[in-house]
Amino acid sequence: MKRRDALKGITLLPLAGGAISSMIPWKAAEAATVSAPPDLFAELGIQRVINARGTVTVLSGTLMLPEVMAAINATSHDFANMHEVIDKVGEKIAGMLHVGGAMVTSGAAGALTLGTAACVTGTDRDLIKSLPHIPGPTREVIMQKSHRYVFDHAVRLTGVKIIEVEGPDAMEKAINANTVMALFFNAASDWYGVPDSISHEQFVAIAKKHKVPTFIDAAADVPPVENLFRFQKIGFDLVTFSGGKMIRGPQSTGLLFGRKDLIEAAKLHFDPYECPIGRPMKVNKEEIFGMYAALKAYLARDHKKEWQDWIDQTKQIAKVVESVPTVKGETQIHTGESNHFPGLVITWDQSKVKITPRDVVKALAQGNPRIEAGGGKDGLEIAVVTLRPDQIDIVARRVKEVLSQAV
Ligand SMILES: *Cc1c(COP(=O)(O)O)cnc(C)c1O
Repeated sequence: MKRRDALKGITLLPLAGGAISSMIPWKAAEAATVSAPPDLFAELGIQRVINARGTVTVLSGTLMLPEVMAAINATSHDFANMHEVIDKVGEKIAGMLHVGGAMVTSGAAGALTLGTAACVTGTDRDLIKSLPHIPGPTREVIMQKSHRYVFDHAVRLTGVKIIEVEGPDAMEKAINANTVMALFFNAASDWYGVPDSISHEQFVAIAKKHKVPTFIDAAADVPPVENLFRFQKIGFDLVTFSGGKMIRGPQSTGLLFGRKDLIEAAKLHFDPYECPIGRPMKVNKEEIFGMYAALKAYLARDHKKEWQDWIDQTKQIAKVVESVPTVKGETQIHTGESNHFPGLVITWDQSKVKITPRDVVKALAQGNPRIEAGGGKDGLEIAVVTLRPDQIDIVARRVKEVLSQAV
């Protein structure tokens, strides 16, 4: 190609984005599909679910806030350098959360892997390439015995071995030259009903004394919004939250934040680099922008009002179902570290309303609309935090219907 021809091709570049997009036919085609979206649920035979169970991954976690969708749509028509996206969004989030560094990851699980990887390798490029088979002795991560959980697989993915300890003395004794990190599972006492054998403060103090980085998994632990600031104040070096739970970002995102040097090391394990362990945990730019928008909206929200709305919604459902004889609806606030918000527990005299809560759950799930709720031996559990406002009444009437049929 002659130089003159090549130059001809690039004369378009300095034009404004809008001018270019109006000339590209596929832009017009895209706009047309946006104004008349097909019902993809129907096209693919996938049933819509009314989620009265909470931010569970199996039900697709959360509904993204309109602000998130706006951010995704607004950023999807242009390319960007991913290093710039990751760095700039991370810097902004770090400022919002009063920490040195931050990044958007592929869920809290992805953050667990990247944060651990950072603690194992630092910025050593050879070590980064060698994960999970690190030369030398097996690196160790300390956890309280009662904190072991399904998600520690995301930590072990980096090749480390988890050393279980009980109590501050055992923790101190367990630390050695191969210790690379200490992981705290914030909601452990909540999940298992076993108190922590080492408090947050003790855990951080012991690790700091031996210069071992600390990482806390608080994936599902907002509200309260203050928790987004609590753990860095205690002194944890790394913190993770899910993006796709109550923060209502993309389900596939998470936040990793804390010490700047560790975040910079974690980035070396992430895309857009081609070799590292985090490459299969890629997050696209729209999701990164979307997570940023979600966090901004979450921090700006009127949390008191939102809380009151949830309580009102539980009462609204209770009022409807209590018209069935012996049925009682009680607003309960989960008091633990995770999933701390109001929900509704519905009970009844099973000798009068002859159906078990488990069978109500089944009937709701098999009905139309399909409603997913929770329930044990004693009662039916309705989460309102994942219901759209227009679904409150639908759920109330459907539960009433199922219970009435058993009278
Ligand atoms: C949900 C959860 C995770 C996983 O988070 P994702 O964002 O889905 O990857 C990890 N740890 C805990 C305690 C969780 O509740």
